[in-house]
Amino acid sequence: MPSYNPNSNVNDRARWLPSSNGTYSASSALASLRTLHSFVPWFKLVWFAQNIPRMSFILWVAIRGMLSTRDCIHKYDLLVVTTCVLCNTHPESHAHLFFQCLFSRAIWTQIMNICGSPWNGLCWNAFIDWASTHWRGNSPTIVANKLCLGVAVYHIWRERNCRVFEGTQKTSLVVARSIIDTIRCWLSSFNLKNHPIIALNWNVNSSSFAVLLLSCLGHLFRAVLSLCLALALLPGYAPCILYILSLFL
Ligand SMILES: [Zn+2]
Repeated sequence: MPSYNPNSNVNDRARWLPSSNGTYSASSALASLRTLHSFVPWFKLVWFAQNIPRMSFILWVAIRGMLSTRDCIHKYDLLVVTTCVLCNTHPESHAHLFFQCLFSRAIWTQIMNICGSPWNGLCWNAFIDWASTHWRGNSPTIVANKLCLGVAVYHIWRERNCRVFEGTQKTSLVVARSIIDTIRCWLSSFNLKNHPIIALNWNVNSSSFAVLLLSCLGHLFRAVLSLCLALALLPGYAPCILYILSLFL
């Protein structure tokens, strides 16, 4: 047996056994308390460096199917009415509320148009699986798409709660505008200098050459149009048509 001879020249010292160096740390304490599980496939879809925490939290609860939707409450016989308050036609569930509801679809259609992704018609669970597979990495395009998912789910859930608890309601157009404004503000904090397409799609100010060039072209076009209008050089409806076109530049 190995012998143990205490060294009377060294003071006794307490050691924190869960840590390899014997020093206490919060991370080592947490690691000793929790049970480690494998990551779920949608982990990076919810938690990423550029996320908006309170919106990621709602998305996390929604993906786990643990929001208090009316179908969940109905299981405990606490609620008789199960109709979705956004469309008033179908029973409210996670899958319906966030993806199948006509109200939500109108919102997703507008957002997907900006993202450049067509509405693919998947159901809620299939879409989460699809996005978990395809939205990988940290490129601005992927980050913008993941932000869209979290912000949209948050705002749809918030609108649902406003209708249930406060008796107020907004149109899908107004909710979509709030979502787009939130994402635009968030993206404006990123460096999109090398991603002018995203800056243009989300109308985020960028100092990139392409954005500046398009902006200058718009100003030049409107200046020439104003001059033509002033000199009455354009006949008929041409000035109106050109002015409407200039608004898109
Ligand atoms: Zn609905």
